[in-house]
Amino acid sequence: MNGEILALGTELLMGELTDTNSSYIASRLPHLGISVQHISLIRDNLEDLTASLELALSRSDIIFTTGGLGPTHDDITREAIGRVLNEDLKIDPVLIEDLKKWFRQRGMPMSDANNKQAMRIPSAEAIPNSQGTAPGWWVEKNGKVIVAMPGPPGELYNIWEHKVAPRLKASISGQVIVTRNIKTINIGESALAEKILPFTGTENPYLGIYAKRDGVHLRIISSASTEAKARKMIAPIEKGIIQSVGAYVWGFDEDTPEKVAAESLLNNGYSLAVMESCTGGL
Ligand code: AMP
Ligand code: MG
Repeated sequence: MNGEILALGTELLMGELTDTNSSYIASRLPHLGISVQHISLIRDNLEDLTASLELALSRSDIIFTTGGLGPTHDDITREAIGRVLNEDLKIDPVLIEDLKKWFRQRGMPMSDANNKQAMRIPSAEAIPNSQGTAPGWWVEKNGKVIVAMPGPPGELYNIWEHKVAPRLKASISGQVIVTRNIKTINIGESALAEKILPFTGTENPYLGIYAKRDGVHLRIISSASTEAKARKMIAPIEKGIIQSVGAYVWGFDEDTPEKVAAESLLNNGYSLAVMESCTGGL
């Protein structure tokens, strides 16, 4: 299944805000069997978002949007989705009651501008957002899915974890993508590339090589109908890599140099003393 992410917000295009939402979503999709093909940043402009959604619908099975669900005039995600799907927005009586309750519980007045956050097109189902006023939307039409989520990262993470990811897990029975990251040090990218050449050249599993601050990482990515099958495809490549360049490998997956160093000290029964001197307190 092909996925695509659209991150909304003029501030993203001005370099004022870093798009962390897209990487959050992108990093979670492979495990669910969704391969991310495109990530776009789009300014808060109805025509631009409408065009981007049209393009996304033409090439992707599922589209994730973040941002643009606020109450102000520049929050245009709902309008744009309504426009591309040719459906009218109407205030949903249940959503407006939820919204009124949200404000009442906090002793805050609700402004008329918030009404639009209770709007919905017929194909959209609201995704409750316990952390804010903007519910997300789960839209299904013509075999395509659009999942619209709020921009504030805390709200996005909450909605993702509790609503979106479980639903995706339950509905997708396609391919599962598994990655294995092997981290090396003391060997350059090109020297390493030469040594691992026999394991490269296939699309699935795919072996990528990436120079990072903590050394050169080798990432094996495989896709199969189940996680177990995908892991089985990775195993022989990992074994071959360890046999040929194991001397340079210091960690795997989420390992950090600090974690590996600390574990090594603990395993060997060593302790670590740290002394700071001559820095003037820095
Ligand atoms: P919006 O829903 O577009 O009005 O976004 C509300 C707020 O969420 C923004 O002002 C940012 O602080 C944050 N935000 C929106 N989009 C992103 C993003 N892609 N990455 C990180 N933070 C974001
Ligand atoms: Mg915005």
